Amino acid sequence: MTNTNAQILIVGSGPAGYTAAIYAARAGRRPVLIDGLLQGGQLTQTTEIENFPGFPNGRMGFELMQDMRDQALRLGTEMLSGEVVSSDLSSRPFRVTLDDGSEIRAESLIVATGASAKYLGLADEQKYAGAGVSACATCDGFFFRGKDVAVVGGGDTAAEEALYLAGLARKVYMIARRDVLRASQVMRDRLAAAPNVEILYGRETVGLVGDGKVEGAVLRNKATGGMENISISGFFLAIGHTPNTLAFPQLETDEQGYIRVGGRGQQTNIDGVFAAGDVCDPTYRQAVTAAASGCRAALDAERFLLANGF
Ligand SMILES: Cc1cc2nc3c(=O)[nH]c(=O)nc-3n(C[C@H](O)[C@H](O)[C@H](O)COP(=O)(O)OP(=O)(O)OC[C@H]3O[C@@H](n4cnc5c(N)ncnc54)[C@H](O)[C@@H]3O)c2cc1C
Repeated sequence: MTNTNAQILIVGSGPAGYTAAIYAARAGRRPVLIDGLLQGGQLTQTTEIENFPGFPNGRMGFELMQDMRDQALRLGTEMLSGEVVSSDLSSRPFRVTLDDGSEIRAESLIVATGASAKYLGLADEQKYAGAGVSACATCDGFFFRGKDVAVVGGGDTAAEEALYLAGLARKVYMIARRDVLRASQVMRDRLAAAPNVEILYGRETVGLVGDGKVEGAVLRNKATGGMENISISGFFLAIGHTPNTLAFPQLETDEQGYIRVGGRGQQTNIDGVFAAGDVCDPTYRQAVTAAASGCRAALDAERFLLANGF
């Protein structure tokens, strides 16, 4: 029978949520974890993970997440399928409502709902997903060593991604919609000093081409209206992320929409509510950092419960 009165309720089944569950379960808290629409989180959307420690030969993303799930289950986590659609965090026990209308109450809550990368909205982005299209240079750049790639975006993040890729790829095109970059002067200076970065100003991507994998992009030159082709093997989106916080409007976020944590570990603005993983991390957004913050959130929740007589 479903435990509808959890001491620790975890929302999200990515590396942050599963790691929080592993720690909370080992503390004897019998945590409840809600999967969300994407069981296993973002890593199930990719192929091989080569940078998660402990796997010298790499591990397929969905296998890694299944391992984490099995570990959390074995230690005593209760998994629920469903999505949180709303929450009331005004008093304890906190209450969350799932998409089937059921309600779960919890003395402490860990929000680990991740952040979704923004895409341009081109059908080709779906067509070549996992075949040259990526929203994470740190994750996938390694697969494009010695090749030509493009980064879409003109802000600091795009500049960072382009500079990271410049250390691996033969050539990096930066596709910027405007005639100037939004990136800070220091990042613009670094781009200017990188010999293999070329900025294509005033261009919009209209499509991708290739036989089963990305081999090129078609760009529209906004000044002339003409079409241009570039040959690339990798197409990296760097136009921002949307943290998944819709169901938790009472949580304070920063100007980009990431849940604010701090003061005491993964604590949010509400006592007893913690956040972990990409949903509160505008900077790193990696599986290992998400897992680490899931650990922190579970330890924080445990201390909170002890301090409150549970
Ligand atoms: C294609 C791709 C490749 C990547 N490759 C790598 C890599 O090689 N190495 C690396 O370290 N990182 C990689 N990353 C990044 C990595 O996947 C993320 O940093 C990591 O998954 C973040 O973990 P998380 O637990 O915070 O969130 P996520 O993995 O995003 O999981 C979020 C979870 O929250 C759930 N959820 C969301 N909203 C709700 C809701 N309302 N109710 C209930 N549940 C909800 C979702 O169903 C999901 O289970 C990659 C990402 C992508 C997209």
